[in-house]
Amino acid sequence: MMYPHIEHPQLLLPDALIDGIDGSSMSGQAVLIDEGVIQSVGKVDAVRNEAKHGTIEVDLSGMTLCPGLIDGHTHLSLAGDGRSYDEMFSETDEMMVMTGAMNMMKHLRAGITTIREHGARNRVGFALKEGLQRGYIPGPRMQVSGRPITCTGGHFWFCNEEADGEDEIRTSVRRLVHEGADYIKIMASGGGTRGTIPGRASYTEAELHAAVHEAHHFDRITAAHCRARESMKRAVQAGIDLMEHAEFLDPDDVMRFDPEIAAMMEESKIWISPTLQAWTKYPRIVALRNERDMGSLSHEGEVELEGLEKRAQTRLDVMRKLLEYDLKARVLPGTDSGVGMLEFGHLDYDLELLVEVGFTPPDAIVSATRISAEAIGMGDTLGTIETGKVADLVAFRGDPSQDIYAARNVGAVYQGGRQIR
Ligand SMILES: [Zn+2]
Repeated sequence: MMYPHIEHPQLLLPDALIDGIDGSSMSGQAVLIDEGVIQSVGKVDAVRNEAKHGTIEVDLSGMTLCPGLIDGHTHLSLAGDGRSYDEMFSETDEMMVMTGAMNMMKHLRAGITTIREHGARNRVGFALKEGLQRGYIPGPRMQVSGRPITCTGGHFWFCNEEADGEDEIRTSVRRLVHEGADYIKIMASGGGTRGTIPGRASYTEAELHAAVHEAHHFDRITAAHCRARESMKRAVQAGIDLMEHAEFLDPDDVMRFDPEIAAMMEESKIWISPTLQAWTKYPRIVALRNERDMGSLSHEGEVELEGLEKRAQTRLDVMRKLLEYDLKARVLPGTDSGVGMLEFGHLDYDLELLVEVGFTPPDAIVSATRISAEAIGMGDTLGTIETGKVADLVAFRGDPSQDIYAARNVGAVYQGGRQIR
């Protein structure tokens, strides 16, 4: 359900405001929005004085207003309903576009107002962005990669952008840019695709460097899927802009934290999107914990929950070790939604996991707003509540800077000044 478009300026009056410059909340603040842009923010009386005749006052009492959330890692064309890649990719492109349209609405309603679409088959990702831009379908602002570049038979080969060797990789980058890619996604290691090994690097440093060099030539930034320890090292050395997953996996499927690579990551100032809910199967943990809290968890459920929580700790421990380096301000959340059972609509889960590995709630919010906007090259227009920025906003019931679980409770969403929820 979309709200009608309001032509009048709006004065938003929340209980508290988190501007995203830092993550702490302030009370007694108001935000004036008009023509899709934040016109003013500050003390209620001062902002009210600036408001033109005809401004509509919006009561957001009980809520904390934040910049709209940014999800750096989504797969719109996948339903996140537990099916395997083989099953999901047996769908037609047409059904994948339909799936994407559904997912865009789910994310937007959850206060996620900007996403990166991290790779779909053929032209599905581009079609979704085109549909959004034409106003055919609602959704978060999006940057598309189009198709991920992968080696022959590599992770996500079925998206149809296989490339081997530096020349083919350069051709792929040129083709994707020509088709409309906003950034370049490359699979530097195996992953969940049958026949690939997550802990094994799939490109040489020279191949990754060819992608970076060609992408930068077109002013496009690069993101590399790096589950393998070796792929992380090569990605840093090749000058990749943003590292996905960063799991330090070896070919035997064991995570081995590597201080040398962590130091390289710190030194290089690479952006890192650890996609914590993907490895930990966090949505399943949440569902089981809810059952436990309701007193309806079966014995099998208890055993499953205990196993999942234990397994999750190994991943979270690796992240904690990584955060002993000066990297916190380079980390951004990414849901990896669409894959496995990762349903759309839950950046809140990533915020909870960031807090679990040592972020304060304000730090986690900044990571999902200002830092994410900077990492994807949109820091000039998005990510904070400041005069002149786009009016993409989310209001949570309660105050997530005090209690991160408040981010589960979305009260209102604005995109470009228009109320979505
Ligand atoms: Zn992914």
